[in-house]
Amino acid sequence: MRREQGFTLFELLMAIAITGILISLAGPGFLQQIRQSKKTTCIIYRQNVQTAADIYIKTHNLKKNDDMPTFAEMISENLLTGEERCPSAGIYVWSDHKYRGPNVPFLVSCSIHFLEGM
Ligand SMILES: [Zn+2]
Repeated sequence: MRREQGFTLFELLMAIAITGILISLAGPGFLQQIRQSKKTTCIIYRQNVQTAADIYIKTHNLKKNDDMPTFAEMISENLLTGEERCPSAGIYVWSDHKYRGPNVPFLVSCSIHFLEGM
C-alpha cells in the first residue's frame, strides 16, 4: 500500500489552531513589551539630547534668551550622532525654545511620549 505525500486537512487545521492559540497567548504581552522598549529608548535618547544641549550651552556660553541649540548644531559638534530619534516616530521639541538660564530646567519633549521618564 502506497502512502500519500503531504499533510491531511486535519493536520493542517490542527497546526493552524495551535498557532492561533499560541499567538493569542503571547501577542498582547509581546506588543506591550515592544511599546515599553520603545518608550525606554525614547527616554534614553531624550536624556542624551539634554546632556548634549547642556554641554553646548556651556561650551558656547549661551546667555538667557539665546536660542536653544538645534539638532543639526549639536550633530555638527559631535555631541549627538543623529541617531537620537524616537523609535515610535515622535518628534523632539524643547519645552522652551529659549535658554532661560542655568537654574531653569530645559526639557526635551517627545510628541508621542511627552515628558515621560524625565
Ligand atoms: Zn518618543
